[in-house]
Amino acid sequence: MPKPLPGELTFVAPRGAKPPRHLADLSAAERKEAVAELGEKPFRAKQLSHHYFARLSDRPEEWTDIPAAARDRLSAGLLPELMSVVRHVSCDDDTTRKTLWKLFDGTLVESVLMRYPDRVTMCISSQAGCGMNCPFCATGQAGLTRNLSTAEIVEQIAAGMRALRAGEIPGGEARLSNVVFMGMGEPLANYKRVMGAIRRLTDPAPDGFGLSQRGITVSTVGLVPAMRRLAEEDMSLRLAVSLHAPDDELRDTLVPVNTRWKVSEVLDAAWYYAERSGRRVSIEYALIKDVNDQAWRADLLGRLLSGHRAHVNLIPLNPTPGSKWTASRPEDEREFVHRLEARGVPVTVRDTRGQEIDGACGQLAAAG
Ligand code: SAH
Repeated sequence: MPKPLPGELTFVAPRGAKPPRHLADLSAAERKEAVAELGEKPFRAKQLSHHYFARLSDRPEEWTDIPAAARDRLSAGLLPELMSVVRHVSCDDDTTRKTLWKLFDGTLVESVLMRYPDRVTMCISSQAGCGMNCPFCATGQAGLTRNLSTAEIVEQIAAGMRALRAGEIPGGEARLSNVVFMGMGEPLANYKRVMGAIRRLTDPAPDGFGLSQRGITVSTVGLVPAMRRLAEEDMSLRLAVSLHAPDDELRDTLVPVNTRWKVSEVLDAAWYYAERSGRRVSIEYALIKDVNDQAWRADLLGRLLSGHRAHVNLIPLNPTPGSKWTASRPEDEREFVHRLEARGVPVTVRDTRGQEIDGACGQLAAAG
């Protein structure tokens, strides 16, 4: 790496540089080792974890049970600043808030916090950009920049939890209940780091945030081997599969990875997941006018899903800038719902929160 010239921005890391190591990258055992490497007593790892995960504190001056010199060493060695807020944009009376983050190397990613009367959901990114190339998704158009580290994923959540606790989202103090990996990126293409993040989110305090596994949704284009691997983790996470077409001919074009793993293979892996986890799989289907919303496709989808542990989540297409596609007509959407219900397949139409702040599906960070 060339030395920065005087005045050059030092936070712009060279391409390929790794995000600095952070407490949230490490398991409890690794945290002990890391603390010892910094010349501190291993029990400080537990204290530090308590501050970060249980108290959501990343400010050394608040760690009064640790001597000042040790605080500084621990903070410098294990809690580097990984990301900074570029801006927040809100809508829905400020109960939906999108945050644009700048990472240590200048990369931009987004997360969205959505407060409902009965729950608070955070939609987070697992990669900067995405390599899956789905033509209707804004993130897919720019390609993959890089995988996020475990701590870069966890920090999006930590920031959301801190904002809720500080009352920054109207409605009084609140707690985060749900996390969806539906921001930028394909989570199963960054498997190890995403699983690390899920462990930190779900491990009971002080080793993690203690969120419920059932409240976490991993959404995938259908990377079959990784879906099977996820099933074998034997966790009760919710799996969402972005199907978007019941037939290979159309799905090959809407979700290009379908040329590698076909609809039947993706669904077999989904049923395996449902069996191992005991949870219904959510089938995501963006309704695109005159592309995938025909009645015969609803019938075919109903036949494929009927009798299985599945639930269909229809998403009105959120048109991306310059796209030739748009959302289905209301009557076609109604007919689609009706035909699935006629086969006993549970179906809901997803709300499109955040549309006016480009915070709805597939639009994240496209505008920068
Ligand atoms: N890569 C993962 C997760 C990120 S996308 C996946 O594909 O599942 C989250 C969801 O938003 C996916 O179901 C995706 O297909 C959908 N989506 C992307 N762009 C969209 C758009 N323009 N309108 C509606 N849904 C979209």
